Amino acid sequence: MINTAINISKVSESKFTSIDLDNVTFGTIYTDHMFFCDFKDGEWQQPQITPYQPLQLDPSARVFHYGQAAFEGMKAYKDEHGDAWIFRPEENWKRINFSARRLAMPEVPEEVFMNGLKTLLEMDKQWIVPGKGNSLYIRPFLFATEAGVSAAPAAEYKFMIICTPVQAYYKGGEVKVKISDYFSRAANGGVGATKAAGNYAASFYPTNKVKEEGYQQIIWTNSTHEYLEEAGTMNVFFRIGDKLLTAPTDDRILDGVTRKSLIQLAKDEGIEVEVRKVSVKEVTEAARKGELKEVFGAGTAAVVVPITGVGYQDEHFDLPKLDNPYSTMLKEKLLNIQYNITEDKYNWTQ
Ligand code: PMP
Repeated sequence: MINTAINISKVSESKFTSIDLDNVTFGTIYTDHMFFCDFKDGEWQQPQITPYQPLQLDPSARVFHYGQAAFEGMKAYKDEHGDAWIFRPEENWKRINFSARRLAMPEVPEEVFMNGLKTLLEMDKQWIVPGKGNSLYIRPFLFATEAGVSAAPAAEYKFMIICTPVQAYYKGGEVKVKISDYFSRAANGGVGATKAAGNYAASFYPTNKVKEEGYQQIIWTNSTHEYLEEAGTMNVFFRIGDKLLTAPTDDRILDGVTRKSLIQLAKDEGIEVEVRKVSVKEVTEAARKGELKEVFGAGTAAVVVPITGVGYQDEHFDLPKLDNPYSTMLKEKLLNIQYNITEDKYNWTQ
């Protein structure tokens, strides 16, 4: 690597004070600065932070044609003392490099990722609005910039980090999911476990289909549609009786940071957690018998999303309203760690 010191050029005036954060749509406003580092001639170039601005790319840049692109999603939180926190960032660094390897892109050095992230957050920290539920969503991403429509891995890439303020991703309300008995998001030996940009492109059409039927999200199943894998862009947990079930991560399932944190928290609360394949049959049978107590999605964006109803083929199961659901308890426990409200005995926050 050439020079790891970040070359910084700052905005002359922050746009922060001119923005009404209570009325911004998620993902439409970005902070004052962006971080980037180019890969060319076989090495990472000097990293840079500049004012947030459009990019110039050749129309034949390979990202547009062959989809060599992967991203991450993480958040920064501010506690009541005004200190900013990030949650398990090394997991996101490892995961973008897992995606990079699978898509034949160069891995991002730890120093480029962490130093870029922390310097950018230090510069734009006024955008991290304090208070539980408020946060700054951080989007690291990596893509092929080399010009030339040749279906082979590019020789040039750009790694970037941009940040957008967020209130709540799913604005409450009901979230009903439909179990897929036709579409798949991932295959054995495929890229489902990565955050390849194309995974999300491929998920929009099937998701639109279930929306037409009155559902908000799809529950992805394996290719034979026997096992439940993920809910939309979240990992998914099922509570049958008092047991919590979730699928093991593999080629097809994203190794979610929220998922693994919730498994730990649930176990430490004395909840019996089974990480194993969860079949459509057992979940629908439990639902018919009234033993399916909870279903919830888990991901950085919304932390925990309680699911109110599950559809499968011609059946629909409404889930009971519980007094003390696991979902609420686990969400509170995790948020309290993320916002530095309770002690972080796991050393997850920085
Ligand atoms: N599954 C998919 C397909 C996702 O895109 C995400 C969001 N990154 C998750 C699960 C949840 O992962 P995490 O808890 O790391 O945000």
